[in-house]
Amino acid sequence: MTYGVISGHSLDPVEKKPLYHFFPGHNILSIGSYGCNLRCDFCQNWHISQKSADNLSADTSPDKIATEAVSSWKNVGLAFTYNEPVIWFEFVRDTAVRIKEKGLFTTMVSNGYVNREPLKEMLGFIDAFNIDLKAFNESFYKKLTGAEFEPVRESLKQIAKAGKHLEITTLIIPGRNDSVEEMEAESKWISEELGNEIPLHLSRYYPMYKRNDPITPQETLDNLFHTASRNLKYVYVGNSAGDTGQDTACGKCGRIVTKRTGYNIRIMNIDTSGKCTGCGNHVYRYFTFP
Ligand SMILES: [Zn+2]
Repeated sequence: MTYGVISGHSLDPVEKKPLYHFFPGHNILSIGSYGCNLRCDFCQNWHISQKSADNLSADTSPDKIATEAVSSWKNVGLAFTYNEPVIWFEFVRDTAVRIKEKGLFTTMVSNGYVNREPLKEMLGFIDAFNIDLKAFNESFYKKLTGAEFEPVRESLKQIAKAGKHLEITTLIIPGRNDSVEEMEAESKWISEELGNEIPLHLSRYYPMYKRNDPITPQETLDNLFHTASRNLKYVYVGNSAGDTGQDTACGKCGRIVTKRTGYNIRIMNIDTSGKCTGCGNHVYRYFTFP
């Protein structure tokens, strides 16, 4: 029903997805449609995610998108984002294949609530994923999203095992998933099951849709950043004006390799292959100078 139906369309910094370790400093053409397989009462994008598919008509095609991607400025490829890409499967597949034929890269921003077989198929044509890990407990998933916790963890394992580029985002909601204990468990699990080099983005929540909890305090984000940083090498704080968790320090020697001020990106101490010039650590697998 939503094949070729576009809700949003923009040339964004890759950092906005957020992807911090995937061609930093470049752009990515970003598209989304309508609808979602979850019903998060805190959805930050509910105008498009919770909209009915009635009365929509197609406004683009895989070929059109691929042509545009090739001619877009400093563009590394295409991101499926804004709404949930797994419910847009056929259009995502047909378009991703065209993008790859053009020598560009494909990414997907998803809740990870998907069956094993379709995810396996998507691993064949998506290069990089940012998956929302909405909390680290079953009751949050049941009560606030209408989904389940375990299948999301299974997806994360499946993506990591396939060797695809993976970053994870957790939206921190005061009183719901903001305890130090929960972040300790989450970051430990990521480190042990997926790897301690997986970037984790802690994102600030704003009251939206049906939920009216207060905005996440900066102090909470700072605390959880320090908790997660004990288990993971690359932790970031997003949607925030604070200084914590903006830059990338080499996971081996600690040299700053990227400074970020908003979407202004400054790369330093990195060679042409994405390695730290101080210690040779391969910080960015996907890298060219912007
Ligand atoms: Zn280094």
